[in-house]
Amino acid sequence: MIQVRNPRTGRDDYQFAPATEADLDAHAASLREAQRDWAALPVEARVAVLRRWGDAVEAASGALIEALIHDTGRFGETHAEMNLFRGTLARWLRDAPAQLATFDERASAVETIKLAGQLVPYPLVGVISPWNFPLGLSVIDAIPALLAGSAVLVKPSEVTPRFVEPLIATINQVPELAAVLRYVLGDGKVGAALIERVDMVVFTGSVATGRNVGEACARNFIPAFLELGGKDPAIILPGADLDRATSALAWGATANAGQACQSIERIYVHRSLHDRFVTQLADKLRRLKLAFPKPNDGEIGPVIFARQAEILRAQLDDAKAKGAVVVTGGELQVLEGGTYLLPTLLTKVDHTMLVMTEETFGPILPVMAFDTVEQAVALANDSVYGLSAAVFAASEQEAELVARRLDAGAVSINDATLTAVVSDGEKMSFKLSGLGGSRMGPTSIRRFLRQKLLIKS
Ligand code: NAD
Repeated sequence: MIQVRNPRTGRDDYQFAPATEADLDAHAASLREAQRDWAALPVEARVAVLRRWGDAVEAASGALIEALIHDTGRFGETHAEMNLFRGTLARWLRDAPAQLATFDERASAVETIKLAGQLVPYPLVGVISPWNFPLGLSVIDAIPALLAGSAVLVKPSEVTPRFVEPLIATINQVPELAAVLRYVLGDGKVGAALIERVDMVVFTGSVATGRNVGEACARNFIPAFLELGGKDPAIILPGADLDRATSALAWGATANAGQACQSIERIYVHRSLHDRFVTQLADKLRRLKLAFPKPNDGEIGPVIFARQAEILRAQLDDAKAKGAVVVTGGELQVLEGGTYLLPTLLTKVDHTMLVMTEETFGPILPVMAFDTVEQAVALANDSVYGLSAAVFAASEQEAELVARRLDAGAVSINDATLTAVVSDGEKMSFKLSGLGGSRMGPTSIRRFLRQKLLIKS
């Protein structure tokens, strides 16, 4: 049995038996068999099945939200996560049919030959997901994969498994879906065993695990789509609207208590603005309260995963030891067993500190001054990560010029959160933040399809 800690009480209050190798074999065999009929359906029929699932999830949303609140200890973001499910489903029900159309026949450069295209889904897709958005990140790739005609085996994080039982109940209400979509519970060992049984993998999680997943997929010659961590920078140029920038950053860096992959984790501000910027940002951060004692009492929920608290503590200790100044926040608090950190603003930071180079995954905002645009771009790009970024300037055009020079898959202009909310544009992660095609945008469903050519003479 795997014991599961409650992030609000610090106590183990849930347990589950991890899937065995035999369980995985049985799931893989029955999913593969059902997938043949599923892929043979017209896409409109698959759309109809997933629409019924959406209705079942709506009907069960109360139970799902309750389970997610216990999994994560948070409130507002749990409702946001239900909206992520709704938004993902609605967009794919709308976009999938057009993306699955292919050409029936066209001429070739070789005059005597005609070509026909076919899109063939990978039979069995494995999805491995993390704990920070347990429901949302377990369905974000599963839904397009199913619509593409694949069967899907999902292994969500062992840290947040409580939502899986009510979710499986909704899947079971739609038998055609239950035949091609399964959830299994387990830790990394189960994830590794799952990889051995599928035809492609979509993994969301840390760089360290992503490397293991990528290596295992390479050994098996199956594609791996890796959605990994980030250390997103924000640049504040002279002339930027400081009120707008500080409001956007106060929210963009602390939403979900900073436990979001696309979340601003380091700020570079022009020296002429530094002191005013810090005062305004500190003022806004001080207005944010801990979500304690009840989940909906304030904005900043608990640290969900116990190991994460150690990372926050280590980064703060390292920064303070190297001369960083804590302007506000700065102390982890243990309240009734849950660990919390008020939004923490640091100044006098530099790139020798872990807090400027390692992913933090907490509500810590280190602010560093720069003198020239060249310096700001160099500092922002001085990272092993390249997930997303933000630029604030006097005009959209000025910000865009800098945004185009940043090594990141998506850059918000005069805002700090757009990269997380926009789902209808293709974007890829740079450097260690990921590998493979875009998960966003209508064409991303093509990741689940192989292109086949029929050549007629
Ligand atoms: P993690 O890498 O520890 O775990 C992710 C998943 O991988 C879990 O389900 C885990 O059980 C499984 N796993 C562990 N070892 C495995 C192995 N050897 N083979 C197969 N599966 C294995 O990540 P986490 O702590 O759950 O999540 C936090 C990380 O996720 C952060 O780095 C964050 O930035 C990243 N993340 C990225 C995105 C994105 O879209 N880029 C989104 C959310 C989170």
